[in-house]
Amino acid sequence: MKMNPFKAKQYATSKVYHTRPQEIGQQEEERPNIPEGIMTKCPKCGKAIYTKLLLANLKCCNECGHHFKASAKERFGMLLDDGELFEYDATCTTVNPLNFPGYEEKLAKTQAKTGLVDGIVTGKGKIEGQPAMVGVMDPAFFMGSMGTAIGEKLTRMFERATKEGLPVIVFTASGGARMQEGIFSLMQMAKVSAAVAKHSEAGLLYITVLTDPTTGGVTASFAMLGDIILAEPGALIGFAGPRVIEQTIGQKLPEGFQRAEFLLEHGFADQIVPRDQLKQTLGTILKLHQTAGGKKLQEEEEKSFQKEEAKSPKRGEAESFQMEEGKYSEKPKEKSSRDMEGKSSEKKVN
Ligand SMILES: [Zn+2]
Repeated sequence: MKMNPFKAKQYATSKVYHTRPQEIGQQEEERPNIPEGIMTKCPKCGKAIYTKLLLANLKCCNECGHHFKASAKERFGMLLDDGELFEYDATCTTVNPLNFPGYEEKLAKTQAKTGLVDGIVTGKGKIEGQPAMVGVMDPAFFMGSMGTAIGEKLTRMFERATKEGLPVIVFTASGGARMQEGIFSLMQMAKVSAAVAKHSEAGLLYITVLTDPTTGGVTASFAMLGDIILAEPGALIGFAGPRVIEQTIGQKLPEGFQRAEFLLEHGFADQIVPRDQLKQTLGTILKLHQTAGGKKLQEEEEKSFQKEEAKSPKRGEAESFQMEEGKYSEKPKEKSSRDMEGKSSEKKVN
């Protein structure tokens, strides 16, 4: 008899399956007798790591190199020069377009819990001195699902980047389209893709970094549209989940299916970059692809520099004024006499 794992009854009536069957083996292991927060258990090698050490190691396991999920805030800290981000559309959020029951409450709860307005943070920053627009999806917000706010923020970022002639980097982490927004979230795929196309037609660079997990509508649209597609080691990347595919095609899937390494092998990704090399790699790619926009910016910077130079006679005047003051040398003497008061009084005593 074939089992259908989607039928809830099979689990509900079974005493053994009080959780998902694949989690049963891990259950006992996953409860180490350690106070929460001090240690974090690596889901790959099972070793307990000091959380502080884990954070210092860019949230990578120092034993097996497993990459833990990173929040948008953490990513910007790891990636941008001085962690400085000029954020765009910080208040852009979603409404409840389908009047989905309980969506507003869940949204408010998630916002309070994560400190995010929606599942993506977009803005402008510098990576190894190279200006770029960067969007980072946060897997903690509704599992990084793509709703109208994410689509709108991404579209706006691409439009800004096209206007300013800047490259775009998007870190994807998504469970797919947000079901509470139905067709409106699916529409974002087309909307963002159109903005990506215009950005591309302007001859500008778009890099995607696929992080764990990147699935569903995000994979089917902007995640795979990058001119250069990078991925983090071991990241799950796919459209439908492996269990759904197995059910549909009635075959066992090969080992490592839908992992970043599998995608690289089959030509869906350009490079797998460990997190500690990500900033440097992105910086190098940006330098190599310095765009017309980048040149424009450089020219502007040069112009502004020239303007400053044009203003510099004033500086010169100021300097000469100081020199004149120096000639009179009254004020400096006053200062020094004030400074020396204590000592001079001492001398007097002596
Ligand atoms: Zn590990």
